[in-house]
Amino acid sequence: MTRIATCACGNLRVTCSGEPAKVSLCHCLACQKRTGSTYGIAAFFKRQDVRVDGPSKSYERQSDRGFPVWLHFCPDCGSTVFWEPQRKPDAIAVGVGSFADPTFPAPTQSVYGEHRHAWVSDPG
Ligand SMILES: [Zn+2]
Ligand SMILES: [Zn+2]
Repeated sequence: MTRIATCACGNLRVTCSGEPAKVSLCHCLACQKRTGSTYGIAAFFKRQDVRVDGPSKSYERQSDRGFPVWLHFCPDCGSTVFWEPQRKPDAIAVGVGSFADPTFPAPTQSVYGEHRHAWVSDPG
């Protein structure tokens, strides 16, 4: 199984092989800022199963737990497509929306429930 995530303009492409190790929905305020939506969803793949093509820029932010996260986005359209959580150096997180695939596996967990908008249902 190969899936391709892209930014909005298509210049930054991330090809992922196999199934994601985990799909996680995040209600945190940083994900709300990053997406402009009310939550983020990340699919975690093994680093060796991910190939990146095209230009990207990155910025670093600290997670609440004290580990930096490097977020990579398209320099042309600004979409964040993937990020590297330093807490999990073997993993690459890819934004599920970037696959534009309504059949993508659903999240199996959610985190930062204290920031969940009341109308957003929780996958558990
Ligand atoms: Zn782009
Ligand atoms: Zn988050």
